[in-house]
Amino acid sequence: MKTRPLFDEAALAKRIKELGDQITADYAGEPVLVVSVLKGAFMFTADLIRQIKVPVEIDFIGLASYDGTQSTGQVRITSDLSTKIEGRNVLIVEDIVDTGKTLDFLRDMFNLRNPRSLKICALLSKPECHEMKSPVDYTGFEITREFVIGYGLDLDQRYRELPYIAQVLNLD
Ligand code: 5GP
Repeated sequence: MKTRPLFDEAALAKRIKELGDQITADYAGEPVLVVSVLKGAFMFTADLIRQIKVPVEIDFIGLASYDGTQSTGQVRITSDLSTKIEGRNVLIVEDIVDTGKTLDFLRDMFNLRNPRSLKICALLSKPECHEMKSPVDYTGFEITREFVIGYGLDLDQRYRELPYIAQVLNLD
């Protein structure tokens, strides 16, 4: 497989600090329940919450939507939240927004549970591919249609452990 590095550890740390500062300012001392979307967002979430200076609780939701490098358009829950979100400020943390179908699905599902507020933070976003109903509140980096791996993002469950994000150039 051929890859090209896109965002190294320093670039990720710098941008995540900026996102944390922005989130800290916006929540202005109010507590926030951070919901990390597994598996892809686990590493980003761990770094992001260390840069958020308001009281944070953390929960996880397991979703699967991709098979290989192709979007199937189908989202399914592999494990649900362990916390009630009613009346709480909820910040969903996603690894990457491609079509945005996953986010639409999550937003609709979460809104049925009546949170006090609901915002989305995604490390990466592919604006050219977006088909979703409403925008993302916090975005780390915008990229084109390329398929990326590392820093939590996988290719058939591999490469999540890479400390940087790389573009997959070819699979040979
Ligand atoms: P969407 O529903 O927005 O089309 O797809 C979002 C999900 O697809 C992401 O949470 C992620 O799991 C997966 N995905 C989308 N683009 C990429 C990519 O470039 N690399 C990897 N590893 N996963 C991706």
